Amino acid sequence: AKPQQVRVRFAPSPTGNLHVGGARTALFNWLYARKTGGKFILRVEDTDTARSTRASEEAMVRDLKWLGLDWDEGPDVGGPCGPYRQSERLSIYKAQVDRLVAAGKAYPCFCTDEELEAMKQEAVAKKLPPIYRGKWASASAEEVAEAVAKGLPYCYRFRVPQNQLVRIQDLIRGEVSWSTDTLGDFVVLRSNGMPVYNFCVAVDDALMGITHVLRAEEHLPNTLRQMLIYQALGFPVPQFGHVSLILAPDKSKLSKRHGATSVGEFRSQGYLSAAMVNFLSLLGWNDGSEQEIFSVEELSDKFSLDRITKSAAVFDKVKLGWMNGQH
Ligand code: GLU
Repeated sequence: AKPQQVRVRFAPSPTGNLHVGGARTALFNWLYARKTGGKFILRVEDTDTARSTRASEEAMVRDLKWLGLDWDEGPDVGGPCGPYRQSERLSIYKAQVDRLVAAGKAYPCFCTDEELEAMKQEAVAKKLPPIYRGKWASASAEEVAEAVAKGLPYCYRFRVPQNQLVRIQDLIRGEVSWSTDTLGDFVVLRSNGMPVYNFCVAVDDALMGITHVLRAEEHLPNTLRQMLIYQALGFPVPQFGHVSLILAPDKSKLSKRHGATSVGEFRSQGYLSAAMVNFLSLLGWNDGSEQEIFSVEELSDKFSLDRITKSAAVFDKVKLGWMNGQH
């Protein structure tokens, strides 16, 4: 059989600037695609309409282009390609919710906020995890029809299989597993018709044929829900690689108080994009040698997933300054 072509993606939420962490994730994905002759996809995760802005998307696109991280696909036929936007794919998610419902793997839930809160209080009082296993999980067709006829608003919940162990072999972290015991039946489609974040991510990764999901470690907990969605929809599961955090030199979480952390700031301070790419590439990766100065071409040639480090990377601007002088 022909080896499968690598398909990777960068999936930013357009709620701010492109930070070094996001840029590093984008770069690792892009390098892996370039190294393997695969495809790199840009997908804007903008279903959180309260926080997403087109200005943020444009700024991120500008910074990715400045770094030279070009993408290979998009929804436009003939014209300039991409990015994909989740807000333009709502009917796709709805169709997948319908498939779940038809298979009995998701169900309408008419609980009000007050009812949900009361259930939570009850669980807490009984020292049980505050998770949804409420009445609509086992409602009859008549009860559902009656609630619909009354015009009550409803969401769709995913029926979480009980007592199941979900396991992944993470490319960076090794084996990771979760029990579904503490996971309630979670919402996949809100009553306003908007699908939830984890559902869109799983559906898109599957339908876009993503082979490797390389993303920040902070997304590891989301993987459980996403795995359950793949399983329920019969989708093939991609390989996951959760990349470690980037810390400030004092080993605290990198934040605004450490000065510039977004790509746009470095660009306007006059740093060279080749130096920025070189610097980002070594935040959690090395080629096993002492070499520190790499051109983009060398990186595209040398990059490999098995040399991504498990430990956190340290963001050292002195080093960036030095690299800038070498390019
Ligand atoms: N949209 C998410 C973020 O910007 C990334 C989700 C993912 O890579 O799966 O953090």
